[in-house]
Amino acid sequence: ILLFIVTRTIWIMDKVKPWRTNHSTSLPYELFTLDISTRLRSDPNSIKLSSSDFGNMVKNIPCAVLFPTHVTDIIDLVKFSYNSSRPFTIAARGNGHSVRGQAMADEGVVVDMRSLERFGGGNGIRVSWDSGLGFYADVGGEELWIDVLKATVEHGLAPVSWTDYLYLSVGGTLSNGGVSGQTFLHGPQISNVHELDVVTGKGEFLTCSRHLNPELFYAVLGGLGQFGIITRARIVLDKAPKRVKWIRMLYQDFSSFTRDQEHLISNNVLDYVEGSLIMHQSSSNNWRSSFFSNTDQSEIASLLSKHGILYCLEVVKYYDDANINTVEQELQLLLKHLKFNPGFVFKKDASFIDFLNRVRAGELKLQSLGQWDVPHPWLNLFIPKSRIMDFHAGVFINIIQAQNKSTGPILVYPTSRKKWDDRMSAVTPEEDTFYCVGLLHSGGVDDWEALDAQNKEILEFCEKSEIVLKQYLPHYNTRKEWMNHFGEKWSSFQDHKYKYDPKMILAPGQRIFH
Ligand code: FAD
Repeated sequence: ILLFIVTRTIWIMDKVKPWRTNHSTSLPYELFTLDISTRLRSDPNSIKLSSSDFGNMVKNIPCAVLFPTHVTDIIDLVKFSYNSSRPFTIAARGNGHSVRGQAMADEGVVVDMRSLERFGGGNGIRVSWDSGLGFYADVGGEELWIDVLKATVEHGLAPVSWTDYLYLSVGGTLSNGGVSGQTFLHGPQISNVHELDVVTGKGEFLTCSRHLNPELFYAVLGGLGQFGIITRARIVLDKAPKRVKWIRMLYQDFSSFTRDQEHLISNNVLDYVEGSLIMHQSSSNNWRSSFFSNTDQSEIASLLSKHGILYCLEVVKYYDDANINTVEQELQLLLKHLKFNPGFVFKKDASFIDFLNRVRAGELKLQSLGQWDVPHPWLNLFIPKSRIMDFHAGVFINIIQAQNKSTGPILVYPTSRKKWDDRMSAVTPEEDTFYCVGLLHSGGVDDWEALDAQNKEILEFCEKSEIVLKQYLPHYNTRKEWMNHFGEKWSSFQDHKYKYDPKMILAPGQRIFH
């Protein structure tokens, strides 16, 4: 017996050794006696990949990374931590496209969700139909939306609500909301989910929906990963169109631009409505500029030099064989009443997939120029409609245009609160219509802090001006700020944490409870 104990201890110590060199004794050694220990890695590459994100501004070093080959690996890891006398933190990393370390676990364990897809041990993407729900897809939380799109269009179907960029994981966007130009019509991605499988912070594996474990279902959607790791989501599908008519129109006047946007989201004729600012500073390094030809760009440049700032309304109408003969007419009728600059309307006809995957071409271009993996001090805000003119004057004109240091797209488009479910954890402004504003800055290694300082100035301006905004993809440093962010939802948010993750194990990178 003594010999067995000695050899077993030597064996365990041998396994633990590589950790000790990185992060010494932070993880309990018993972890290495579990079957999952062979999927836990602490080599420099694994650690490096999991200690940074798209934002490139935060670095948090985990002790180890779990590369699960099956959902049970995740259950075993969380259960172990929960039952341990020294629980450690665990962060699910979808595709690591957060910007402020939200998917990191300093001195904890990062779960590389994509590994489930690589090893085929996740839920994959399965399309089904039933009389109650219609068509839907059961999708692993680790899947990317681009793959969900490709798999579902093969059946002539597709999800209805999207993000602008599709190389994001299903679990990652459902933890936040998932917004884009379709949100006004279908709600955010979290409004288009029937059911979830979740591993809670106690290591329980639970299925939840509006009828089964509803409290967990609503808590997890928009819950910033605080209550459980999503391993499967049942997503609403609808018939996929074949092609789209894609139009951009330029305005020199912000109030006409927003009036037209609000009109367009109220009549439900279009399938997508967004908008962006065009300034001198944002014309380069902008994934969205590929829409315009060289001739268009020089015309736009001369209009821009006259006005200093332009507003680009972007709309899309889906079509297929059924409405191929009427779609143009319908759009003409709609455009006739809009107040864009005459002559500054640009049209494209694209496949549904090319339209949805529109950001990819820009990404590849920036990657080839070495401008993709740079710091991204982003600020995403929801602004109530009643204050968007004040926001325009105080932020777009007096801060961003005046300081002339912004690079990257600036998005601004309205959406409707009616399409959000208030029982979910996600928070929005109180008004029926609010604007999604994305300041998607790209910084250099040396100058991103100046852009971040500008973000702080913007938030201070809004606070002083009593613009009651909500941050989307929020980032705060204090408990008081989080309480303010969740407002009336804070006490239930906190109760859900005590119920589903009482040892505060999950998603430490959000810095809400840790
Ligand atoms: P990660 O960064 O890996 O994780 C984000 C958070 O979710 C972390 O807290 C993590 O722990 C948690 N998490 C990850 N997986 C799971 C899971 N399976 N279960 C539970 N929690 C989990 N957002 C929009 O809404 N609309 C857009 O149009 C949009 N465009 C974007 C474009 C680009 C280029 C980028 C970089 C981001 C964009 N985003 C957009 C933001 C994006 O939705 C969020 O950053 C999202 O979290 C990224 O998904 P991810 O898989 O990379 O998540």
